[in-house]
Amino acid sequence: MSEQALTGWIDRSPVAALIVDARSQVVAANVTVVELLESSAEDIMKQPFVQLLSRSGRMFYLGHILPSLQQHAAVDEIYLRLRTKAGQEIPVLLNATYHNTGGVDYYYFAMMPMQRRNILEDQLVEAKQEAEHALAAEREALAELERAKLELEKQQSELKRLNTRLEHLATTDPLTKLANRRAFEARLENNLSLVRRDSMGFSLLSLDLDHFKDINDRYGHDTGDKVLVAIGSLLASMFRTADLAARTGGEEFAVILSDADLSVALGIAERLRGSIEALEFDDFRVTASIGVTTAQSEDTREDLLRRADQALYKAKRASRNCVKYLTG
Ligand code: GH3
Ligand code: MG
Ligand code: MG
Repeated sequence: MSEQALTGWIDRSPVAALIVDARSQVVAANVTVVELLESSAEDIMKQPFVQLLSRSGRMFYLGHILPSLQQHAAVDEIYLRLRTKAGQEIPVLLNATYHNTGGVDYYYFAMMPMQRRNILEDQLVEAKQEAEHALAAEREALAELERAKLELEKQQSELKRLNTRLEHLATTDPLTKLANRRAFEARLENNLSLVRRDSMGFSLLSLDLDHFKDINDRYGHDTGDKVLVAIGSLLASMFRTADLAARTGGEEFAVILSDADLSVALGIAERLRGSIEALEFDDFRVTASIGVTTAQSEDTREDLLRRADQALYKAKRASRNCVKYLTG
C-alpha cells in the first residue's frame, strides 16, 4: 500500500474511533466520529468524552464502562447512546481498550452506529404490531359476523314463528279451533285437483245444527257458543290428518273425507249424527242434519258444495236429525 493511501486511513475507516486520556478528555477522533455527531473536530476535541453521550449514556459510562475499563482493560459490545451537537441521540455499539503508551494511560474507543439496525428492529416491531392489530380486527370482524348471523337466525326463526302463527290465525276458526271456511275451501280445491289427476275419490259432509236459533233463544248465546265448541271438539276427535273438519258458517260444519266412497261416507255421517245426538248439555240435547255427496272428476268446487247443501236441505225437509245424500 502506498504511503499516501495509508495516510489518514483511520479517518476513512467506517468505525467511529476516538482516544481519551486518563481524565476522559478526548485527545483524538476520526472523521467518522465528527460526521456521526454532526459536529467539528475542534468542538469534539475540547470536550470530556461524557459530553458526547446522552444523559443515560453518561451515567452508564461513568457507572459501568469506565470502571470496567479500569479493572479489565477492555469492554466489548456495549450498547450506548451518543448525542449529536443538535441533541439527537445515536445508538452505537462500543468496544474499548486500555493501553499505557509511553507511560501515559489512554482509552481507545471504537463505535459502530446501530441506527439502521434499530430502524429495522422498530420496523419489525411495528410490522408485528400491525399484523397483531389486523389479526385482532379480523377476529373482531368475525365475531361481529357471528353475532350478526345469530341475530339473523333469531329473527328468521321469530319470523317463521310469526308466519306459522299468522297462517294458523288465517286458517283457524277462533271459537271451535277447527279449520275455517278459507282453509276448508283451499283443501277442497286441492282434493278436487287430486281427483282429476289420480281419480282418487273423496266425499263431503255438510252439517247444520237443527233449530239452533231456539237453543240461543232459550238458553242464551253463550250456551249456544258452548254447544258449538263441543261440536268442534267432537269433530276434532273424530277426524284426523287426512280428513278435514271445518266450521264453514255460524252453526254449519263440513268434513272432507279423503279416500271415502259414498257408502263409507254415509256410515261415517251416521256415526257423527249419533254422536252429536248423544252429547249431553245441562238440560237439553242438540241434533244435526247432514248432507253427503261424493266428488266426481268433472266437479267444480261450486258443484260439490251445491250438491252437499242440497243433500243437507233434503235432510232438513225430512224432519231433521238425519243423513241424506245426493250423487253427482
Ligand atoms: P234449522 O237449521 O234447523 O233450519 O234451524 P236453525 O235455527 O238452526 O237455523 P237458522 O239458520 O234459522 O238459525 C241459525 C242460528 O245460529 C242463528 C244464529 O243466531 C245462530 N248462530 C250463528 N252463529 C252463531 C254463533 O257463533 N254463536 C251462537 N250462539 N249462535 C250462532
Ligand atoms: Mg244454518
Ligand atoms: Mg241450523
